[in-house]
Amino acid sequence: MPLLPNSAEVIIVGAGPVGLTLANLLGEAGIDTLVLEAETDQATDLRASTFHPPTLEMLERLGLTQSLIDQGMVCPTWQLRWHPSGERAVFDMSVLADETRYPFRLQCEQWKLSKLLLAQAHTRRNVQIKFDYRVAGVTQSDNGVSVDAEHNGNVEQFRAKYVVGCDGVRSVVRKAAGLSLTGKTYPGTTIIATTPFPFHEHLEEISVVSYCWHENGGHFSLLRVPSQWRTGIFPRDDMPLEDQLTPASIEEKLQEIVAKPEPYEVREKRAYTVHMRIVPTYRNSRMVVAGDAAHINSPSGGMGLNGGVHDAFCLADCLIAMLKQGASDAQLDLYDRKRRPIAYDEILLQSDKTRARMNEKDPKRRREIMDEMKAITADRARMKAHLMKSSMFEGVRRSAAIT
Ligand SMILES: Cc1cc2nc3c(=O)[nH]c(=O)nc-3n(C[C@H](O)[C@H](O)[C@H](O)COP(=O)(O)OP(=O)(O)OC[C@H]3O[C@@H](n4cnc5c(N)ncnc54)[C@H](O)[C@@H]3O)c2cc1C
Repeated sequence: MPLLPNSAEVIIVGAGPVGLTLANLLGEAGIDTLVLEAETDQATDLRASTFHPPTLEMLERLGLTQSLIDQGMVCPTWQLRWHPSGERAVFDMSVLADETRYPFRLQCEQWKLSKLLLAQAHTRRNVQIKFDYRVAGVTQSDNGVSVDAEHNGNVEQFRAKYVVGCDGVRSVVRKAAGLSLTGKTYPGTTIIATTPFPFHEHLEEISVVSYCWHENGGHFSLLRVPSQWRTGIFPRDDMPLEDQLTPASIEEKLQEIVAKPEPYEVREKRAYTVHMRIVPTYRNSRMVVAGDAAHINSPSGGMGLNGGVHDAFCLADCLIAMLKQGASDAQLDLYDRKRRPIAYDEILLQSDKTRARMNEKDPKRRREIMDEMKAITADRARMKAHLMKSSMFEGVRRSAAIT
């Protein structure tokens, strides 16, 4: 039966990577889907840059994996490193070759995935995307949901059977569903600065993804993408944040990594607060949340975006079973059961652990950790076990086994 104007089977709020992944999967299955996005265009700011192998496998279903690989940098190893000595524990992802077609991390800016997803969504007959529609209110009844969106100073109303909040950390859908992100906010702020300076030509055998302890007690991360390095700088406790964001202060931090006579070219800088938070349930009747709307975590280990994309694949299968195969809406409880515990155990706790390891300042404890990591990397079976977890296979497989 044709749908009424301004209606769809599923409304997705937010055209970020999670919303657009879900929209494409639903559209592919022939489900009428409307995406409402507050901004006038896609974001291209500095956000996630790491794709783990299970995510690359999932994106094969949309035929996007190879295009993403072509636009990114394959990262066959990652390392924990002591600076400036260069002592390191190197995790070689080739040990995963019998588990996956992608035994590597892919370093590629998040916006490149978003652009691929948007281009694909535009080709789908069942998917409509409306930019510049800021959702202001969502209500539900026994029969469906009603979504109010502001556009050009007016409020337009849309109806659907279900609404999915892929509207990020300040999710309006989450609030309308009466859910809150509970957990903690980490003290302090993290700064990211990007530079085209070729660190790889100056730091011996640095990996494309490297987590570094500085012998002065501080730490930093170096993550390479095709045209530049992203430096994660962890600020000092004894200086106001605004002072640490000045060009002079960032220059000083970069000079501590590789000293050079000329100043660094810094293309972009960003300071952000890091949280570890999750909703108590992923659904309230016809309202569902996914991605950052449902869980947020430390970026250490690069799991947030990946976990959101995994949510989208799982939720798509549940909605397809309901809307195309006659399954009951208990499928949405299944989505909650399959994703929420995994997000907590395998994403929030795991990235909390990675963050704590990098924050370690005690030289004795650092030595113990480095020795332990080197012992793991010297033993291929132990290294594989470690990588199965840090590359998100364990979580994805645990989730798949939940029925
Ligand atoms: C600096 C930084 C580094 C990161 N690094 C990594 C990393 O290396 N690896 C990793 O996996 N993750 C990383 N993350 C996390 C990652 O960026 C997020 O997990 C990811 O963007 C979540 O995608 P999303 O689609 O759920 O939400 P978002 O990308 O936030 O998209 C939400 C969308 O909803 C729209 N929206 C919001 N409110 C409304 C409304 N009321 N109406 C309509 N639309 C609305 C927004 O405009 C936006 O387009 C990082 C994040 C930051 C900030």
